[in-house]
Amino acid sequence: MLAFFLFVLGTAIGSFLTVAIDRIPRNISIITGRSVCESCKHTLSWIDLVPVISYILLRGRCRYCKQQFGPHYLLLEILTGVLFVTTYLVTVAQNCPNGQICADLLPTLLYRLVIACCLFVIFFIDLRHSIIPFSVLIVAALAAIIYTLVSNPFFLTVSLLTAVGSFLFFLVIHLVTKGRGMGFGDVLFAFVIGLILGFPTSVVAFYIAFLTGSVISLILVLGKKKHIKSAIPFGPFLVVGTFTCLLWGPELTHVFLAWLRLI
Ligand SMILES: [Zn+2]
Repeated sequence: MLAFFLFVLGTAIGSFLTVAIDRIPRNISIITGRSVCESCKHTLSWIDLVPVISYILLRGRCRYCKQQFGPHYLLLEILTGVLFVTTYLVTVAQNCPNGQICADLLPTLLYRLVIACCLFVIFFIDLRHSIIPFSVLIVAALAAIIYTLVSNPFFLTVSLLTAVGSFLFFLVIHLVTKGRGMGFGDVLFAFVIGLILGFPTSVVAFYIAFLTGSVISLILVLGKKKHIKSAIPFGPFLVVGTFTCLLWGPELTHVFLAWLRLI
């Protein structure tokens, strides 16, 4: 029942995130300004904006000019719903002994959902525009600092040191590759990942990002979809590494250390 509620909440927030993904690169406010149809500029009313339901009832068309909206609105809403349910189920399984929801779960769940939303927006904006939105990084950094202060204040020093270390590591790559491999947005993103995951989990997240990044790049190059020199944005891979480590940090760190024969 709660899982279903989380899915519905996810699609509603997903509809807001879709607006954010659309507007942030164009520097349009995401809070003020009603949604309008891109085609006829008609202001959309709440009945046009019920997540998933409106899309299905209107068959993905504008109610006023019948212009077809891309399926990505529906897909992104459903994907956010799936992310919310996954985050909820994993967090319950890890924190509550008998699978029942428990009170001390709430801060962790809320924190993970906020970070998941930030990562979701970064993923799609970087994929489409090769930009890591600074405003979203600020939200994620503040959430990480507040959560660490509330849950484990002693860990804040570790988080900050990890953030600075990650920043410097990515800055060196950025400078050595003259920005072709890694934009400055990725360098700032690495700082925030350090804040979110701390040490040693950040290292595992970066490893997953480099691994998935090279595998996908290789597939794209072999499939002749991309030339070696054309840049593939690295942010989406950092998102994949960070999200998996956000949910399964200790487990993945254990696997990683065992693989390096350090434990
Ligand atoms: Zn329209």
